[in-house]
Amino acid sequence: MALHVRGVLLPDDEVRNLWLVGDRVTFDPVPDAETIADGGYVLPGLTDAHCHIGIARGGAPIDSLDQARELARTDRDAGVLAIRDAGSPYPYPELDDDPDLPRLARAGRHIAPPKRYLRDIGVEVGAAEVAATVAEQARAGNGWVKLVGDWIDRGTGDLAPAWDAATMTAAVQAAHAAGVRAAVHTFSETAVEIMVRAGVDSVEHGTGLSLDLIDLMVRQGTALVPTMINIQTFGGIAEQARAKFPGYADHMLALRDRFPDVVRAAYEAGVPIYVGTDAGGGIDHGLAAEEMLLLHERAGLSTVDVLAAASWRAREWLGFPGLVEGGLADLVVYPEDPRRDLRVVRAPARVVLRGRVVR
Ligand SMILES: [Zn+2]
Repeated sequence: MALHVRGVLLPDDEVRNLWLVGDRVTFDPVPDAETIADGGYVLPGLTDAHCHIGIARGGAPIDSLDQARELARTDRDAGVLAIRDAGSPYPYPELDDDPDLPRLARAGRHIAPPKRYLRDIGVEVGAAEVAATVAEQARAGNGWVKLVGDWIDRGTGDLAPAWDAATMTAAVQAAHAAGVRAAVHTFSETAVEIMVRAGVDSVEHGTGLSLDLIDLMVRQGTALVPTMINIQTFGGIAEQARAKFPGYADHMLALRDRFPDVVRAAYEAGVPIYVGTDAGGGIDHGLAAEEMLLLHERAGLSTVDVLAAASWRAREWLGFPGLVEGGLADLVVYPEDPRRDLRVVRAPARVVLRGRVVR
């Protein structure tokens, strides 16, 4: 049966009637549709542009599709109806069109240097194998690859790029040659510079960004997914590492402390910013609303731009059409105007995924 929704449609800010027929949206009235929302503020389903449904709580790889389903449902119930999985040690292409789960944009496994990333998560390869591994992981995902651009180097006791600049640049080129986009994990100043100059499509975290690089990102259209929730955990990471690696610990704290200003500068310059929680492992799923509030309160994004970063703009970036004629039937309804008080995003009144009421 068709569903009918009436409310203030964002971002247009007009009271509209829309109908959901199967998995599609139409503005042409459908007789005898069931009205599931009348009043409130309607927007395209939220997106978590950086999370991991292949990594269980605690950090181990999941070992069944059901575990991935359970994690994805936690996001879904909070209004997240599209996910970009930024690296999964467990392949789950079977879930791409699962009627019960958010839309999925997937990277394959993280591609990391040997013994320099989270245990058991990435494919760990030396410089000579990086480009071939990128091509392989491009086939494992459905549009993205994920590179680990830096990590602690226990030899020098600080963050260091994963590979030399030529290898990292070739990795981005290999992704593009394979027809996919490349996302890169970076914390440090050095690695993010290499990767932005290499033309990577999205910078994950990006604590080491400088003003020069921000300008280059604007010119190139390079996206930033700041994962502010993740950066708040740097204090714990630093204190655990401090006895053995004091320089690394200090560096992580400095990156954390300057980060809200980095995101603010990127926002003010016009870098495309998207909401990503980095859920999976140490961070719980279902926290998109909290990341949205951090972007507003700590980095100064306007409420409308936060909503765009989580909803219509993010969906467009990932290739999931929003609430337009013939668009995908994913929406959330809030009882009050989230542009006036963003905290309302913590509690959607309605969540509809693929034309079916979730809540
Ligand atoms: Zn991540």
